[in-house]
Amino acid sequence: MSSRCSTCREVVSQYVKTQKKEPNLFVDHIDICDLKGKRKHNTQKQLKLREIEIHLSALRNTAGGKIILHVSGTAGDDRYLGCVDEFLEESLNNFLCDGTLFVDTYSRKWLSEIRTFEEFTDCILISVEKTKGVATVDFKTKICSDLKVERPSTLNIVSLLCQRKSSPQKAATLRGLLPNPTESRNIQLKTYRPKDQDKSNIESNPDTFAQYIWEKLRFREYLSCMTKNEDGGSFYLGITEKEKQYQCASPDSTRTYSSFAPEIEGFVLPFSEDDLKNSLLCLIQSHVRILHVDTALEDFPPDLIKFQFHCSKSKGCVLEIAVGYTSGIAFYDEKGPLAYHVKEGEVQRITPDDWLSRVTKTFDDFKGDSSP
Ligand SMILES: [Zn+2]
Repeated sequence: MSSRCSTCREVVSQYVKTQKKEPNLFVDHIDICDLKGKRKHNTQKQLKLREIEIHLSALRNTAGGKIILHVSGTAGDDRYLGCVDEFLEESLNNFLCDGTLFVDTYSRKWLSEIRTFEEFTDCILISVEKTKGVATVDFKTKICSDLKVERPSTLNIVSLLCQRKSSPQKAATLRGLLPNPTESRNIQLKTYRPKDQDKSNIESNPDTFAQYIWEKLRFREYLSCMTKNEDGGSFYLGITEKEKQYQCASPDSTRTYSSFAPEIEGFVLPFSEDDLKNSLLCLIQSHVRILHVDTALEDFPPDLIKFQFHCSKSKGCVLEIAVGYTSGIAFYDEKGPLAYHVKEGEVQRITPDDWLSRVTKTFDDFKGDSSP
């Protein structure tokens, strides 16, 4: 709640006084310009969306309830709700974790449609139903295809927990510098080309360099994906996929088309190989936890990761980080998935144990409800 905003304060106090008691009521504040801005480049918009997601998750995971969204700056005669719908669409859909329909779970309207709230023309009332499952803000683990990395569904998580492959774990294997590497579920190629203004900070010490690989180049996400492949994967820093023109293969053709080819660009390592390796290991060991269906979160097994620097005088260094396979789920957050509930009047993060029992219970319940 934005306590600095007088409208947010007033609207809540009036709602509590005049409306039938809600199990849970939250107020969120966003400026119309942030709501309408492009999400990718607007950190304020991302932060606001995350605040709303935390409240949505808490409502879904507790008893349901209402969110009053104060969109400050909305003109009194602008009654179009499409922008708000678009802003919230992906998040709302992500919280449909139990197969229920959007229309049975959420509704929204201008608060001014309710008697005594006519003057609050810039507030939207969002109603949220409780879930039988667990609405997760961020799973802190990803799944991939050969093209991209994605957010898993709850069903994916259940399937990962239930499936039993032949081996529980396979150690990481280095692939080396392949002659013609192509990106896939097993291979990730990254160029080292930070923005000029960030470069000196990234290269100031091994920890900042490791953090750049971990977060900005999303190694943590690829790691979580690759541990789900039975033959693991390798993440390369210093190889670029460059656009290249090709001539069409038919003998008499003069047509060309563009495609991509790998090229070793390398990078200059500003410190020793061991220093960077240790900083990366430190990040992995402090953040990554493995979840099996019948155990608590476990530490990251050391043999699931291997490092190799392929360095040459002419091309600089390529760093290969090989990742092994585990039948458990690898989370890149030491506290596991990010989900909330309301406990003793406060929004609190759900513990990994609680989260796991809720995930598994959903599907047990579902089977129980639907069987004849
Ligand atoms: Zn406000």
